Amino acid sequence: MCCGVCATTRCPGPHGKLWQSFFYARHEYGQPTQGVPMRLNHLLYRVGKPLGGLHLARHLARKHPRIMMYHRLNPSGLEGGMAVETFRHQMRKIRQSFNPVSLDALMQAHDRGETPDNAVAITFDDGYHDFLEYAYPILKEEGIPATLFLTTGFTNGDLWLWPDQLRFALETTKAASIEPPGINERLDLNASRLQAWHAIADHCLTLGNREKLHFMDQVFDLLGVQMPARPPEKYMPLSWDDVRDMVKGGLEIGSHTYSHPILTKLDDNELLAELQNSRREIETQLGFAPKAFCYPNGRRIDFDARIQKAVRTAGYDYALAAYPGRHPLNDRWAINRYAASDADHLFEKALFGLSFLGMEDER
Ligand SMILES: [Zn+2]
Repeated sequence: MCCGVCATTRCPGPHGKLWQSFFYARHEYGQPTQGVPMRLNHLLYRVGKPLGGLHLARHLARKHPRIMMYHRLNPSGLEGGMAVETFRHQMRKIRQSFNPVSLDALMQAHDRGETPDNAVAITFDDGYHDFLEYAYPILKEEGIPATLFLTTGFTNGDLWLWPDQLRFALETTKAASIEPPGINERLDLNASRLQAWHAIADHCLTLGNREKLHFMDQVFDLLGVQMPARPPEKYMPLSWDDVRDMVKGGLEIGSHTYSHPILTKLDDNELLAELQNSRREIETQLGFAPKAFCYPNGRRIDFDARIQKAVRTAGYDYALAAYPGRHPLNDRWAINRYAASDADHLFEKALFGLSFLGMEDER
């Protein structure tokens, strides 16, 4: 069972035993790292932490800015998001030992050649309503700036995100199994709805955008589920009024497209429309054009030179990926981020720089 951070079924997850996490440490954050072998890195963490090793790592990694990526919070941490108290704990750790900066301030400092030491920037993707309920009050309390990436069609109420639609359909269907077109397997919903969700969602990621929308319609038909136009409470977006209030309180806003498609699956016109509509909508609603863009899904395979050029053409200043790198700001069209894990040891390794010290230089 994967922890959801590293996208590998071999990962023991946050509750894995010590020997398991030791053995599988190479898979942290979804990319094998080779600079310091990860088993050694993990041993250093386990042995070195009680001896002050984290602070030594922080010192050695002080020039490496950390951009942390979050998505959703909920009180229990059991519904596919991070527990609110875990987030509070992480923000306190950042405030106590690091230099929290906004993404925009970090980029400006980088452009002047003055990247501050121990810089940490917080980002949230998608624009769910739980950001206002849980994350924003903690960020304010701790005095930590953040950037929120909005999927503007979601904020507008024009659409809700397809992974949530799929979750909703699987949660509410009366069907006991489904054999979706293109997946040569009957998925037993009584055995595991989560497994069925993963199988169908993984298939969706391989499809072109229109194909995916058509495929989803077929899945909903097979499940006998009518999709409501507005998402139920737990999948609700922030409203523009919510966003405006938080912007007055210092929140930075970036674009995460209009409808959250995988951009490599779009033709040039569709691509530009996603980038421009989202940017224009933010400008209309908030009175400023966003500088920052964030690739949906954000893995290496989810954008390429064509997409990066289009992002630039649409008027953005920089764009963020969803995987870490040794020099996170060197390519402003593929800025690296750490997925913030709710497993304390993974979070600490990213924050204090052990993950960085284990990375090899990109060629
Ligand atoms: Zn997203």
